[in-house]
Amino acid sequence: MAATRLKQEELHASVSDPVLDTMNFLNGITHRYPEAISFAPGRPYDGFFDVEQIFTHIRRYLKHLEEQGATPSEVRDALFQYGPTSGRIRELIADSLRKDEGIDVPAEAIVVTVGCQEAMFLALRALLAGPEDVLLVSSPCYVGITGAARLLGTEPVAVRERPDGFHCADLESALAAERARGRRPRAFYVVPDHANPSGNTMSLPQRRALLELAAREDILVLEDSPYRLVSPGTQEPTLKSLDRERRVVHLGSYSKTLFPGARVGFAVADQPVVDRQGRTGLLADELTKIKSMVTVNTSPLGQAAVAGMLLAADGRTRDLNIETAAHYGSAMGAILQQLATNFPDADRTALGVHWNEPAGGFFLTVDVPFRADNTALVRSAEEHGVIWTPMSYFYPQGGGDHSIRLSVSYLTHDEIVEGVARLARFIRDESRRGN
Ligand code: PMP
Repeated sequence: MAATRLKQEELHASVSDPVLDTMNFLNGITHRYPEAISFAPGRPYDGFFDVEQIFTHIRRYLKHLEEQGATPSEVRDALFQYGPTSGRIRELIADSLRKDEGIDVPAEAIVVTVGCQEAMFLALRALLAGPEDVLLVSSPCYVGITGAARLLGTEPVAVRERPDGFHCADLESALAAERARGRRPRAFYVVPDHANPSGNTMSLPQRRALLELAAREDILVLEDSPYRLVSPGTQEPTLKSLDRERRVVHLGSYSKTLFPGARVGFAVADQPVVDRQGRTGLLADELTKIKSMVTVNTSPLGQAAVAGMLLAADGRTRDLNIETAAHYGSAMGAILQQLATNFPDADRTALGVHWNEPAGGFFLTVDVPFRADNTALVRSAEEHGVIWTPMSYFYPQGGGDHSIRLSVSYLTHDEIVEGVARLARFIRDESRRGN
């Protein structure tokens, strides 16, 4: 008997999302050219990870449970058993959010998730109730949010960032346009600090204006900010800490501040939800219901390791990340300096090469005078030994064809110096080709 063959086009459209192909393509290139220096991956630098620490952290958490009066069988269950769907470590997260981020919410407003990715998915599932509901995203945007929206059968509406970042007026007109089409805008997704992929940060006045706009337009803001606490210097306040009307759902990740292998993130969803009988609960409760049918609960092992780290730092992940933030800050400084050295002012203007200068985070963008597509990327890897990410991957509705994203998180100083020299040769070569 012939084995079953399924047709991809008969599966949900999300499996044919071109974004997945482009990501696979990028991984393929990285494997095909192992000698190339890659500015593509947004993964954390692993020089600070130490295997033994995992055991120390888990032990610390178990000791904490004992100190809190847990019996031996409760301690055992905390690792081996299914756990509460909303998470075991909400108190510790709430404490940490107060100390790190000025976010003051009760533990009940938190849902512990499998990374920020699940938090996005739960929030979108809850908010996008019908075909008229719209998610707006600051664009270029993180592929995880576009992908999550597409899994749910909806296409996010892109609000284009300008060269100097997000403008409230652009969101306002996008909202008006959607309403005019009979659609109901529910939420606006934004990475306000050192965004992935653009590297842009919203100013304090922009943050306040966004919150006022959200109130005026009756939408929620989905705030995702994994790079704040791994960036050097003082950061602008989180949108959630400025939020007086519970307009902001804060989507948290420990992937950059602690470690991504934990797969622990969270949603802060303190919005009141009234049911048909007039009883009021929190949006977090609704997200928990959805979570119970998606991942049941976040791995207790991952939560235990995260909890141990939070306890070790007395909740101050900012303090835990002083060294990492300095590391990433100096990597960003190094790449900016190398770009300036390789493209002196006059060349920059003559060639039409520009880049932004983020004060933190993992990413920056370089505008180039040619189409920075997959074909150019292959030439870059093959002929020049350097890999980057086309910015076009991050525009849900097209754009970014002449820009590239560079990530500095994973490379050593020497690799950055050599990588930018290679990149500069590639850019000059490509400009001469006149594509
Ligand atoms: N949001 C942004 C902006 C990201 O860049 C990433 C991943 N690097 C995530 C969310 C995903 O985070 P997590 O690993 O917690 O799922």
